Amino acid sequence: MGTYRILLYYKFVKIENPDGFAKEHLDFCCSLELLGRIIIAPEGINGTLSGTKQQTDAYIAMMRLDHRFRDMEFKIDESEHHVFRKLSVKARKEIVTFGLDTIDPNDLTGKYIEPKEFYRAMQEPDAIIIDARNDYEYDMGHFQKAIRPNVEAFKEFPEWVRKNLSEIKDKKILTYCTGGIRCEKFSAFLIQEGYKEVYQLHGGIINYSKDPEVKGRLFDGKCYVFDERIAVRTNFTEEETIISKCHYCRVTTDRFVNCAHLDCHVRFFLCRSCEKTHRRSCSKACEDAAHHEYSENAVN
Ligand SMILES: [Zn+2]
Ligand SMILES: [Zn+2]
Repeated sequence: MGTYRILLYYKFVKIENPDGFAKEHLDFCCSLELLGRIIIAPEGINGTLSGTKQQTDAYIAMMRLDHRFRDMEFKIDESEHHVFRKLSVKARKEIVTFGLDTIDPNDLTGKYIEPKEFYRAMQEPDAIIIDARNDYEYDMGHFQKAIRPNVEAFKEFPEWVRKNLSEIKDKKILTYCTGGIRCEKFSAFLIQEGYKEVYQLHGGIINYSKDPEVKGRLFDGKCYVFDERIAVRTNFTEEETIISKCHYCRVTTDRFVNCAHLDCHVRFFLCRSCEKTHRRSCSKACEDAAHHEYSENAVN
């Protein structure tokens, strides 16, 4: 197995002086030679890092010594190498941007539901499953029967929910996201809006895929991740599929690329052969644009 580890974690907990803490934390991560992205806010911490087993073990051990993070859950993946190019530790207003001051998962959030229970609940005939991620993440892979949110950023959810989901306030709602953090806010929002029974998948898709019994069952495609891997296997059963399709020829592919027109750079699915034909461009206009980074040799 890999000698590197990828950590994914968050904790909603009050942090005084996020700016000062971010500076210290940057030095600390630098000294451990970790790479990745950490956001610190008055409401908590949200991070993903890569490093060797020793480096990530040291990080976890040190964090455990801080009473605020003693019980923080770390999701751990193995890797052959780093999955980030640099290290960034920043102080922000929120650790995941939802844009509503009234939401504080430290006070209110949906009920946690564990993978096995979630698997069962998804199969109840009345269950409503809502994907709390962005549309392109859904297109890479999602739970069967989950509602596709028509949003490109997390902060667009309140408006989307109010427009599209006001009829189902009495139904049992199951929400999920990648690692659980977005559901903390999303489920809290649903409860505030008057939804009566809201459950959030504890630890998200990543935790669900690692459960030794459910093994990612009922998840189609791969899980989008915000590091160089782009997507990871999720369904470790005989039912595993790829669902995303090439933008041009509709062949099944999980290759997710950036448009080579540098002023566009939109992400889209593109098979190897269409990459050549269309110079890795999302449209004819982008194909012909001057500010272009495509090079034939770069195809891999
Ligand atoms: Zn194609
Ligand atoms: Zn484009």
